[in-house]
Amino acid sequence: MVTFLAGGTGTPKLLDGATRVWDADSISVVANTGDDVELGGHLVCPDVDTVLFAGGGVLDRETWWGIADDTTATHEELRRLADEVGLGTEPRYLDAKAQTAGREIARWRRFSGVGEFMEIGDRDRAVHVTRTSLLDEGRTLTEAVRVLADAFDLEVELLPMSDDPVATLIHTADGEMIHFQEYWVARRGDPAVADVEFRGARGAEPTAAVRDALAEPVVIGPSNPVTSVGPMLALPGFETALSETPVVAVSPFVDDEVFSGPAADLMAGVGRDPSTAGVAASYPFADAFVLDTDDPTELEGRHVERTDTRIDDADDAERVARTCERALAAVSDAEVAE
Ligand code: GDP
Repeated sequence: MVTFLAGGTGTPKLLDGATRVWDADSISVVANTGDDVELGGHLVCPDVDTVLFAGGGVLDRETWWGIADDTTATHEELRRLADEVGLGTEPRYLDAKAQTAGREIARWRRFSGVGEFMEIGDRDRAVHVTRTSLLDEGRTLTEAVRVLADAFDLEVELLPMSDDPVATLIHTADGEMIHFQEYWVARRGDPAVADVEFRGARGAEPTAAVRDALAEPVVIGPSNPVTSVGPMLALPGFETALSETPVVAVSPFVDDEVFSGPAADLMAGVGRDPSTAGVAASYPFADAFVLDTDDPTELEGRHVERTDTRIDDADDAERVARTCERALAAVSDAEVAE
């Protein structure tokens, strides 16, 4: 058995090859839910759904979100309607009282659907309607995701990190507080980051299924340490569980160069070195790292395996996954020998 921790790009890429290294039914994937928002009354779970759509063979691999060749008729009409009456297409938070009313799972990240600031495809929207309706019928997020995983014939076990609400909020250098989705989707990562808050995390819990999964060896795929893995580490008991099992992390950097996304800005914003060294410092519980062959970083006291860590296709993913397997074997043997 093996457990992957996933954000929305790096680990889903790695999973394309992981199923050639481990049996799919021995793989659990814990997905970040700090990025989730309620938009127009529907709960959108970007990281969970990227794993869902990738495993189901329908992911749009140009964007790494949404369903390939999806139509956007409803989205276009929502924007046209709002524009027509001068309401615009900027993010529209529900008022402070509405943030903590209504669905428990939607707290602190509730947006009006007017002008719909995120592009939600028509088939994609059917997933959000189904998930939200299952929650309204009284199921947990874990149960709702399980139903969707069956619908997409997912072979791996997909687990949201928590059934409780956690919202990743960005405090900007200008003193604003905006949700991660406003920061990344509406403002394209432009505002300078002063701090990142995981609202609700302290009162949230990893689910029982996640706790079981964390008793197995863990692979942290190339992920954004701040906004993809950070919300998980902020959950009570999560980091302790990781310190008690073999953990290998794939660096999302080559030295101080990221492959994609806002990881460097976010790490610098929270006072960490935006580099492989900073990733290693963020994961004190990690026993091993998989670094790129061109990455000169030395990590003292940690087992290091090297390979070309760029993942462009399933063969690349398989190579990196095999390197993770080797690293896990090395640190597991060392633990047994101790
Ligand atoms: P998000 O949820 O989309 O923000 O993304 P993730 O948490 O999945 O993190 C994306 C991270 O993966 C970024 O920091 C990238 O640098 C890294 N990444 C993307 N593609 C690759 C790749 O092919 N190889 C490696 N090693 N890292 C990658």
